[in-house]
Amino acid sequence: MSGCDYVLSFNSVGKSFRSGQSDIQALKNVSLQIAAGETVALVGPSGSGKSTLLSLGAGLELPDTGTIVLDGNELSSLNEDDRSILRNRVIGFVYQNFQLLPTFTALENVALPLEILGGARFSSIRRRALSALEEVGLSARIDHYPAQLSGGEQQRVAVARALVTHPKLILADEPTGNLDRANTQTVLSLMRELSSRHGASVVLVTHDEEVAATMGRKVQLRDGILT
Ligand code: ADP
Ligand code: MG
Repeated sequence: MSGCDYVLSFNSVGKSFRSGQSDIQALKNVSLQIAAGETVALVGPSGSGKSTLLSLGAGLELPDTGTIVLDGNELSSLNEDDRSILRNRVIGFVYQNFQLLPTFTALENVALPLEILGGARFSSIRRRALSALEEVGLSARIDHYPAQLSGGEQQRVAVARALVTHPKLILADEPTGNLDRANTQTVLSLMRELSSRHGASVVLVTHDEEVAATMGRKVQLRDGILT
């Protein structure tokens, strides 16, 4: 489904949440285009709408107004099942708190997106998951459960899981927020290196100006408005 210039575009997007008696306008008339291979830092104070923007881009939620086009598909025109199929095919999501399955080993966590994609043999899924874990330097930890891994190692597993399908777009919501300086550098350089090797676009939410400066472009949200 290509032929479109952007892997993801937000066109005059508005999103509000009901909170008690009032509505919170989390995003106001946001337009943003992410080109193929582009790396974008998304910065802004807490509560400015960064996570909401990523959730909408991934089709986890739908906008109230405006349109969002992911890999040529207008998200509001798809049902929930089709959005999750599209998400799993196009996007690798890296969460701040890793979101690894605790009863799955590192290898099983990384294999999961490939199993959901379907159409591949177990042996091929295992080979690709092993190779993704090797790329993040965790070949020696494949049979460890998340609780047996350090925070930095868990986040590297989460990066391997996000990249194992070779997504066109990596969405990362403060992926280094819980990591120390050394692990932050490791995880970021991995994401950059793997994205440039596979030609993926990246949208990275960060509070860290130094981290933002390593991305190709920086966009800022303030009270739901993109500046
Ligand atoms: P950020 O990631 O920049 O900290 P968020 O996108 O999480 O900001 O939130 C933006 C605004 O929307 C905040 O005021 C937040 O409280 C509100 N919000 C986000 N998600 C929900 C929700 N599910 N229900 C109610 N309010 C929400
Ligand atoms: Mg957030």
